[in-house]
Parts: sequence; C-alpha cells; structure tokens
Amino acid sequence: MSRNELDVLRKRIDELNDRLLEIINERAALVQRIGELKKAQGAQPYDPVREREILNRIKEKNKGPFKTETLQHLFKEILKASLELQEDDRREALLVSRERKSSDTTIEINGEKIGDGKQRLIAGPCAVESYEQTRQVAEQLKKHGIKIMRGGAFKPRTSPYDFQGLGVEGLKILRRVADEFGLAVVSEIVSPADIELAEEYVDVIQIGARNMQNFELLKAAGRSSKPVLLKRGLAATIDEYMKAAEYVFSAGNENIILCERGIRTFERATRNTLDISAVPVLKQETHLPVFVDVTHATGRRDLLIPTAKAAMAVGADGVMVEVHPDPSVALSDSAQQMDFDLFDRFVSELKGCGLHTTV
Ligand code: PEP
Ligand code: MN
Repeated sequence: MSRNELDVLRKRIDELNDRLLEIINERAALVQRIGELKKAQGAQPYDPVREREILNRIKEKNKGPFKTETLQHLFKEILKASLELQEDDRREALLVSRERKSSDTTIEINGEKIGDGKQRLIAGPCAVESYEQTRQVAEQLKKHGIKIMRGGAFKPRTSPYDFQGLGVEGLKILRRVADEFGLAVVSEIVSPADIELAEEYVDVIQIGARNMQNFELLKAAGRSSKPVLLKRGLAATIDEYMKAAEYVFSAGNENIILCERGIRTFERATRNTLDISAVPVLKQETHLPVFVDVTHATGRRDLLIPTAKAAMAVGADGVMVEVHPDPSVALSDSAQQMDFDLFDRFVSELKGCGLHTTV
C-alpha cells in the first residue's frame, strides 16, 4: 500500500467519523425530544421493551464485518448515554444550589447579617449546665462583641448513661441569659415534636450531625419560622448534605446555615477530620452561608486557633466554638472547650485575621 493510498483511506475514515459524530448527535437530539414527550405523558425514561427491540433490530440488520455482539455492546453504550441525557434534562437543580440562586443568602439574626461577607463567631458552652455557668459565658461574649451564643439543652450523647442535657429547663436558661445580655441563641433540637416548643426559646434551631438525615426532623424544621443551623453528618458526603438542606428549604424554610464539623476518617489524632475543602465546595455549590465548628471537628482545644484561622482563610462565613467557665469539670466535651483565658486569645487572634465583632 502506497503512502498515498493510506492517506486517502485515513481521509475517508475522518469523513466517516465526522458523519458518525453528526448522526450520533442528531440521534441525541431526538432522544431529548422523546424524553420531553415521555415526561409530558408521565412515562419513565427507561423502557426495556423498546431497548430489546433496538438490539433485535441490530441482529437482523447486521451484515458484518462486526459481530452482532460487538455492535450490540456499542449500541448499549449509546443507549446508556441517551438515558443519562434524558435523566439530566429531567433533573432540576436543587433549590439550595447556586444554579437556582446565584446571589449569597443572608440571614438576619440579632442585628447581624450572616452570609454578608463578614466573618462571625458563634460561641458558648457545649451544654447548658446551670444559669450561673451560662451567664458567665454570656458575659464573655458580650465583652468581645459576639452576638450569637450556642448551648446544648438536648444533648445527643453516644452513651445513654452520659449527661443528656437539661432539656426544656436548659432552653429556659438560655433564653433568660440571652435576653439579659442582648444575645441570640442557637440550640440543638433532636425531636420533630420539640420544634414548636423551641420556637419560644431559641433564635436558631440547630440540627446536629447525628440527625442530618433525620428527615422528619428536617421537614419539621423546614416548617419553622426560625433559621436552622444544619451540621454536616458524621459520614455524609457533600451531596447528601446538600440534599438534607434541601429537605429544610423545600419545606418552606430558606434560612439555613450550613456547618462543617469534621467527618469520620481513619485518623485518630483528632476526634474527626476537618474537611476544610468542604467550605469552598459548599460556597460554590450552594448559596447558603457556611460555618465551621472547629470544636467538634478537632476535639482538641490546642487546635482551635489554627483550624479557625484555616476556616476563615478558605472563606467560611463564620466559626463555631465551645467555651466553658471551667472546662475540666464540664459535663460534656471537657477536653475541647476553651476556658476564658484561651477564649480571649482565640478571639484576639481571629480578630487579627478579620473576625467581625461589634466591639
Ligand atoms: C453540638 O454542636 O453540640 C454537637 C453535638 O455537635 P455535632 O452535632 O456536630 O456533633
Ligand atoms: Mn460539644
């Protein structure tokens, strides 16, 4: 075969490839049109009877040199890609996605506009233990110009024998202290039945990591008038996390703060592994504000300052952290809550990195 003949044959192959490309896309456009018709009729995109007909037809028509099995295999790939095309057309972007809303969502809490580009702190004890303990923490927040306090009243504990929180009594203490110090409060609610009750006492309903896929709780929080701070689940992918937020949003509550709090990995140096890249991913994929809870992410008070700085550096809307008057006697998370001296240092270092406070 001369060089010239090879060039001619290759040129014909190129032309055939061009035609194949055109035909395959022409086919794809028809598939999309069929998809629209099926959708209008309420029919499913996948139709195994029709797929069988197409494969049989290939068998009837094939004159070689390709074997029928080979061609059926190639066509199955085309059928699979076509089905994906129909499914993509059907799949509507999530309400929480940037695709649906390009501007950042901001949430007004106690005069603060969460998500407005300023970086804020939510701080407070792991659990509300008493009026006096909560009041002492509130005093520190006020001193630093922090407007939102956290504190658990219903504590989801690994062991049923551990301190479970003060329940409604804890919510009452939080409300009383918050009103005395002009603070807003965030507290975790663990049962759909308590959402209504929580509205009386809290400014933001927290849904904890262990409940990220408690769909009834998500729906109940979605019906609430209070903003929701939704923690990422212990082993939840970002896709699952966004869909959990979608439960709240689609039930009517658009005021959602996401909160990365570390995920389970094989690493034992920290309690969880802070997935720092989740912050820019969530900021890109959703329009919701994103916080980072460095306390539960690390489980180590010596890592709170560097990880909080990292959270701010990657563009988090804020940081959540635990502080207690005397962590060594705290009823929960005593290894990771800050005392007031460390908290002073924590706040001043973060202010140096741009943390917004009101003093
Ligand atoms: C909490 O913030 O009190 C808490 C229990 O956190 P998480 O749900 O992230 O473990
Ligand atoms: Mn805690």
